[in-house]
Amino acid sequence: MAITKEAAQNTMQTAQHYVNQVYETIKKRNPGESEFHQATKEILDSLVPVFAKYPKYMEGGILERVVEPERFIMFRVPWVDDQGKVQVNRGFRVQFNSALGPYKGGLRFHPSVNASIIKFLGFEQIFKNSLTGQPIGGGKGGSDFDPKGKSDAEVMRFTQSFMTELARHIGPDTDVPAGDIGVGAREIGYMFGQYKRIQNAYHAGVLTGKGLHYGGSLARTEATGYGTVYFVAEMLKDSGLSFENSTVVVSGSGNVSIYAIEKATQLGAKVVACSDSSGYIYDPNGIKLDTVKRIKEVERKRISEYVKEHPEAEYTEGCSGIWTIPCDIALPCATQNEINEADAAALISNNVKAIGEGANMPCTLEAIDAFLQAGILFAPAKAANAGGVAVSALEMAQNSMRVPWTFEEVDAKLHTIMKTIYQNSIQAAEEFGYQGNLVVGANIAGFLKVADAMMDQGIV
Ligand code: GLU
Repeated sequence: MAITKEAAQNTMQTAQHYVNQVYETIKKRNPGESEFHQATKEILDSLVPVFAKYPKYMEGGILERVVEPERFIMFRVPWVDDQGKVQVNRGFRVQFNSALGPYKGGLRFHPSVNASIIKFLGFEQIFKNSLTGQPIGGGKGGSDFDPKGKSDAEVMRFTQSFMTELARHIGPDTDVPAGDIGVGAREIGYMFGQYKRIQNAYHAGVLTGKGLHYGGSLARTEATGYGTVYFVAEMLKDSGLSFENSTVVVSGSGNVSIYAIEKATQLGAKVVACSDSSGYIYDPNGIKLDTVKRIKEVERKRISEYVKEHPEAEYTEGCSGIWTIPCDIALPCATQNEINEADAAALISNNVKAIGEGANMPCTLEAIDAFLQAGILFAPAKAANAGGVAVSALEMAQNSMRVPWTFEEVDAKLHTIMKTIYQNSIQAAEEFGYQGNLVVGANIAGFLKVADAMMDQGIV
């Protein structure tokens, strides 16, 4: 029987009403958690056409359950600094959803970390992990510890104390943390050592992003940045565009940015700017990545050092000016909400063609709307930056098999995964009437798999 236009409108209204109600509950139950509200709002709004087309997803409390973490752990992390003074930080782990596999997601060490940030990241991670097609649930954690300016010994004492509490909550089949902002190979190494000591067992798959000497995967370091560029390349290709001869601005200078710059450059782009939390550099001849890698990965200094070696480049204090630099492709790879409506307007007026989110939620909801309305190609984080966690899952697979793969094998799998995420997101967008809208497409494709698994597993 054909559905009348009026009946279709009514189902949309019912679905919208349902979603609004769930969103009101989220706001009431999680007061003041603006980042968590923002992340849930984006997904909930995308799901209205799903509930309208398949009302079965409104039953069984799928949405009500998916927005409520299965478990939220908060703990004290005491440690002693180099002056002998006792310091107290706060540790977090959210075990958000285990429908598809063990909780999986990074740990962030940054002074801005709080319950809202951890919950928004954990919520995003559920759908990102689902999109990878790998058997991993969603989780996230971290601490308000600030690694900036801390000695190696301080970082080790802090991470050991952090792991002493976290250890009881994680395990290779339970919850598998990894890195995020402020947590790289050094921190993962110290945490793995402490976990092994506590458990008296070599559970290689309990953490990912490990060093290559002890169970790490080749290409894990590169995975998030490379994956973002692979995804954006697919998106560009569909519009007859490519990275070749394009001008690119990449924010940040951490792990994601460095390897996004590397891959974009390999594909023939000129990357003219990158940044850290103090300011940004503009090098009209193209960023010399070796210098950035040394400053950030070895010397652990500020990006302003770059201009001392490359006087043709300019350094500007403060971050948001980076989006006023004319470019064809912008890859925000620093942190959440780094592109607001005004930054989006600046990029649009400079004729940007594509945005690829390497960081988690780097664009505000208003900025995303502005890009979509201007018809700019937009690759949302949970699809575009899923390469990191996808290779983490490949690291878990290698750990279980006790067999390492070559760089080429892992990189080829990563490339295929990113292409598949792009195809699945585009197809979902089309099926639900949002042709070309990857924000809606990725949210729907990610959600459906989790929802189906939750339905199969009963009310838990
Ligand atoms: N922190 C990364 C992310 O946001 C990687 C997580 C992981 O490898 O588990 O996806």
